[in-house]
Amino acid sequence: MPQIPVIIVGAGPAGSVLAGLLAQREIETLLLDKATFPREKICGDYLSPGTVRLLDQLNLLDLVRSAGAQRLWGMTVISPDGTTFTAEFPVITEINGSPPFALSIPRAILDSLLLTWARGFGVQCVEGFRVTDLIFENGRVCGVTGIGPTGQKTYRGRIVVGADGRDSVVARRLGLYQPHPTLRRMAMVAYYAGARCNVPLQDHGLICIGDRSYCILNPIGERLANAAIVMDQGIVQGWKGKLDELFDGRLQAFPLALSALGSTTRRGPVRCLGPLAFRAHHAAKAGALLIGDAAGFYDPFTGEGVGHALCSAKLATREVVSAIAEGDGGLTEAHLWRFDDEQRKAVTSRTRLGAILQAIIRRPGAANAVAQLLRRRQPFADLMLGVVGDLLPPHTLFSLDTLRALL
Ligand SMILES: Cc1cc2nc3c(=O)[nH]c(=O)nc-3n(C[C@H](O)[C@H](O)[C@H](O)COP(=O)(O)OP(=O)(O)OC[C@H]3O[C@@H](n4cnc5c(N)ncnc54)[C@H](O)[C@@H]3O)c2cc1C
Repeated sequence: MPQIPVIIVGAGPAGSVLAGLLAQREIETLLLDKATFPREKICGDYLSPGTVRLLDQLNLLDLVRSAGAQRLWGMTVISPDGTTFTAEFPVITEINGSPPFALSIPRAILDSLLLTWARGFGVQCVEGFRVTDLIFENGRVCGVTGIGPTGQKTYRGRIVVGADGRDSVVARRLGLYQPHPTLRRMAMVAYYAGARCNVPLQDHGLICIGDRSYCILNPIGERLANAAIVMDQGIVQGWKGKLDELFDGRLQAFPLALSALGSTTRRGPVRCLGPLAFRAHHAAKAGALLIGDAAGFYDPFTGEGVGHALCSAKLATREVVSAIAEGDGGLTEAHLWRFDDEQRKAVTSRTRLGAILQAIIRRPGAANAVAQLLRRRQPFADLMLGVVGDLLPPHTLFSLDTLRALL
């Protein structure tokens, strides 16, 4: 059976972008995805300014914007006692000649766009192919097996990359999958359409923090909004088959979100996913790499998942290109070690920031106090949004200038 240089499991943003970047360097890849595109993905449909900057660096920004992505300039945040502040992305840099902005675009559109972009470089993708297992030889992964349109099939490859998202079969088969020990949250997502949304939802996102839950609204174009409610797993138990009812009921707990949605109405079903958080012990093992959500997912509150997917695809590109240039033995231990280390460095400070924010939003008193502080300190609120939006590194929050702005 012929050996494909690189097999990538999953054609979401991580897999498609890796495949496209490798194809640009004339490395042949095969993408396998259990879905057929366009496919829906439970998501807030928000691309942080850091993600937008990455898209620009990858020459993908014009493509995404031409598909109708909407620009957002900041976020309005409402704490449990109704304290409200609006923060704008700080103007510390330009993106494509403009002050920093975020984008919103339905994932069904974005992911198809990225896959089509990769195919434009000659990438082959088998859609409707569910990978069920890895094939090992001498302790190293040398292929995958699964079920596709033509039945059971095995593909052999020099390098296998798991880009198969937060329930990664590749991470599980490598023995790297680990549920998060404490964070047990579920997400419900729905679209609202029809009339124009109310201010501030026209060019800002809206985050409402409530009791053991939060709601994020994201405007997409003039007459569409994405509404996501994330809550403790216990709240969802017993509501199987009644998700629409649960969603409508929980939304009532966020009156300012309801008012921002104006006279739009829910379109399509409420979709639910969880528990959300899990970790992979390592992002590389036995000759295989994990990228994007397959390498771990924490919580969607800070909306950087697509950015992480693109960033890890970039890191993986470097290792794969170097391994292919060095010979036909696939990824060496040195490649695996370096990728794992860089991937860890790329996410550690963000994960810590995420954990701090979770600790705050899970305590209504703390969330109210922080919101009151940020409302009074606009420059600090903007800076904070710059950090959360991946424009600035988290350590910026602890610099002397920042502390001065806070006082
Ligand atoms: C509720 C919620 C809201 C979110 N909101 C945002 C947001 O607003 N902004 C943001 O940046 N991030 C957000 N995220 C995170 C974001 O969705 C992910 O980080 C991002 O999709 C990761 O991309 P990926 O390519 O790694 O994985 P995915 O996008 O999940 O793609 C994985 C692909 O692998 C395929 N696949 C899975 N298993 C197999 C298999 N066995 N065989 C073959 N194919 C397989 C799937 O069909 C899928 O196409 C949110 C996440 C959740 C849960």
